[in-house]
Amino acid sequence: MSREVLGVVTAHQQREGAGFLVRRAFPTHGIDLVDPFLMLDEVGPVDYGPGEAIGAPDHPHRGFETVSYIVQGEKLHEDSTGKTQLIGPGDVQWMTAGSGIVHSELPSPAMRKNGGRAHGFQIWVNLPASEKFAEPGYQYLQAADIPKAVSEDGLIEVTVVAGEALGVSAAIGTRTPVWLQDWRVRAGGETRVAIDPGFNAAVYVFDGSIALGPERTPVTRSQLAVLGPGSEIGVASSGDGGGRFLLLAGRPIAEPVARYGPFVMNTEAEIMAAVRDYQSGGMGTIERR
Ligand code: MN
Repeated sequence: MSREVLGVVTAHQQREGAGFLVRRAFPTHGIDLVDPFLMLDEVGPVDYGPGEAIGAPDHPHRGFETVSYIVQGEKLHEDSTGKTQLIGPGDVQWMTAGSGIVHSELPSPAMRKNGGRAHGFQIWVNLPASEKFAEPGYQYLQAADIPKAVSEDGLIEVTVVAGEALGVSAAIGTRTPVWLQDWRVRAGGETRVAIDPGFNAAVYVFDGSIALGPERTPVTRSQLAVLGPGSEIGVASSGDGGGRFLLLAGRPIAEPVARYGPFVMNTEAEIMAAVRDYQSGGMGTIERR
């Protein structure tokens, strides 16, 4: 059975971190989450001059995962477990905040000095109660190591960050079934994408436009399409151009969600405990030599 487009919303703009602009596909009016996904932010594209690039300095997380997928630019991650990671164009960092981590997400030193274009995504993936206190850490893959797939007509390419697409499986492992994929559709391209019927699914277009589902619903830049139930979805180019989108899909965790800033737990009491633990230094600090 084909999935249909249940609704389309346009990402709203707001500032994050030290004041950079994001397009937030959700949470937004009418969509709190696409369980197990808690948030989808598109950062930029923004062109920085020398000395202008900004990011999100030291801050904590607990109870979920943060995924950074970089399209253009370079980010420096540092965290309270002592790790440092440069994340470049096309790279992905899948971080499990788990029991608690403090990290810093800044443009790389070279980018801060010279400027350049920053464009990427920050995606928050929830963890079930049983995993909320998992040991903090991350998986990192360079662009070249992320599996890619191509449609039969050769006109659609997909970067399989998580899950599987067109017969290709991701290299990253997830704690619950979660798919995250970057699809590029060229003019005339068309395919069917099998998605587990037990998954929630949504599509966020960040370049051009595409046509989705049996009605060939057009979805254009900065729009999120939430998909209905079914086992597959038709994806095609729209009009005479191409498009690029993220596919988010996953098995819903279906637990109560209590969120406060950088913490996502099941209850308000757990949120209060997270705030206390962070304020008393229980999530550590970033040691800089
Ligand atoms: Mn963060």
